[in-house]
Amino acid sequence: MTVAFRFQIADFRLAASALAALALIFAGCGEKKDASADANKAPAESPAASGVPAQPTPAKQAAKPIPPGPAEIWKEFSGERAFEEVRRQVEVGPRPAGTPELEKARVLIEDGLRRSGWEVERQTFTNETPRGPVQFVNVIGRFSASGQTPVPRDTQRAIVCSHYDTKRFSTIRFVGASDGASSTGALLELARVLALDPALAAKVELVFFDGEEAFVQFTGPLDLKPDGLFGSRYYATQLRDSKRAGQFRFGILWDMIGDRDLTITLPNDSPPDLTREVLASADALGLRQHFSKHERSILDDHEPLNMIARIPTIDLIDFDYPAWHTADDTLERLSPESLQKVGAITLHHLRQTLGK
Ligand SMILES: [Zn+2]
Repeated sequence: MTVAFRFQIADFRLAASALAALALIFAGCGEKKDASADANKAPAESPAASGVPAQPTPAKQAAKPIPPGPAEIWKEFSGERAFEEVRRQVEVGPRPAGTPELEKARVLIEDGLRRSGWEVERQTFTNETPRGPVQFVNVIGRFSASGQTPVPRDTQRAIVCSHYDTKRFSTIRFVGASDGASSTGALLELARVLALDPALAAKVELVFFDGEEAFVQFTGPLDLKPDGLFGSRYYATQLRDSKRAGQFRFGILWDMIGDRDLTITLPNDSPPDLTREVLASADALGLRQHFSKHERSILDDHEPLNMIARIPTIDLIDFDYPAWHTADDTLERLSPESLQKVGAITLHHLRQTLGK
């Protein structure tokens, strides 16, 4: 792969995206005490006078208390833990759609989600591709604050997502450390951290897309002969058709977020309000210098969410990555710090916008 080829492909993705856009115009319950147990003690002050909360009513005792979660939850995101998840993905080897290797990667994702208390749904579908029909599987994580199973599907207000497949090459061994594994591993760490605040976790849907990579050449989200973005097209269409799309306020896509030299190149068609909010979180954490605005749009998994499901979705992608789609996209190019920064900004934004 040469840099020239990289930009050729990029330009194609950008142009296709622009065309598609044009076409649309557009309580703690203390141990229950028996009163007689305190009979030989001094008369107790009334709860109001002592500042001690009144004893919970039986109804409150029956409800499972939801722990409040850390006040500064973004500080809980560990770059090192995220990096270990990334390593596990990379160690599977090349993971193109429809291969046994991608199934191994999928099992790692499912195990990680369940370990953190998330319910897992496999969204399986078959799509025609330039190489014939291929079966794809999106993995979706949902969380219940009260431990309810199955997890209700009407509490989620935001989507955080990543693709987990890697591009298929016959000439090089491509393991997609940043392009595929970085965002996938970081999303598993995000799942662990969100679970510390069950009320917040219940408002988030985590999605791992299959088939982001094109078999031959990317096409726009609304193309009738699609190539690439298979998982996100299907997921967005399901959201639209099931009428769940309306419950989501926004989406955040992570892609290629592991580069040591982190530069998030925000596509020029990023939803303005969402962009302002995310940049405010970056500012609040002193990380604004890692963001730049890309002069064009980038065809990626956020586009089907924006154009099919109509959910404003931002693509946090570091497209300024010389190892993109080369054999050099390996763990050595990545740093835990970059994963930590994107994780922290996202958590800060989720806390600001979705509250406690
Ligand atoms: Zn790629």
